[in-house]
Amino acid sequence: MSELNLILLGPPGAGKGTQAERLVGDFDLPYYATGEILRAAVTEESGLGRKAKQYLDRGDLVPDEVICEVVIDRIDSSEAADGFLLDGFPRTTPQAQLLEKALAERDRSLTAVLQIEVSDEEVLRRLSGRRICTKGGHVYHLEFDPPKNEGYCDQDGSPLIQRDDDKPETVTHRLEVFHEQTSPLIKHYEDDGVLRRFDGARSPTEVHDHIRATIATLRLEDEL
Ligand SMILES: [Zn+2]
Repeated sequence: MSELNLILLGPPGAGKGTQAERLVGDFDLPYYATGEILRAAVTEESGLGRKAKQYLDRGDLVPDEVICEVVIDRIDSSEAADGFLLDGFPRTTPQAQLLEKALAERDRSLTAVLQIEVSDEEVLRRLSGRRICTKGGHVYHLEFDPPKNEGYCDQDGSPLIQRDDDKPETVTHRLEVFHEQTSPLIKHYEDDGVLRRFDGARSPTEVHDHIRATIATLRLEDEL
């Protein structure tokens, strides 16, 4: 069986987490969300983790080389021998080039970059409608999944709040940063012929079916 080396791309609110969960189940791949593996490396106090911590403690951005090393460290582990699913890395073209170089040195390459496309308006609608319960972290949506009593959690009666991350002005800013960074990245992967687009306005099940069909086709092509 050939390797399945995948990257998930998409704006906040595109449902990447949901798709990742399903793909991990389908293909038994390890899922590396960069923020999480970076935090894990810092907690484990590995050599790399200590390196990353120096930057984080100073409030600086962790340099591309260090993030890439942390990611490659995971890719080199036995659990990723048949493939992996990356989310949150690469974010920029220089990061993508570092990753490609590291993969090439290992005689590996990307199978596909799965881009979940969602319009800014839809992202804004999805995120700014979210409300979180202050006690148990239960999640509601004013439009798609409203609580029975406005402003209060159905399960424990605690007040619901809107996280700062979900406020419209913050979402708009996050989207601006996202487009600025990923437009060149998307072009890069398009030029490489590895980009596959999915309509994130569709239901999670439809998106998932489409991704699975695409991967099945890629595998068939690979065997020919
Ligand atoms: Zn609650």
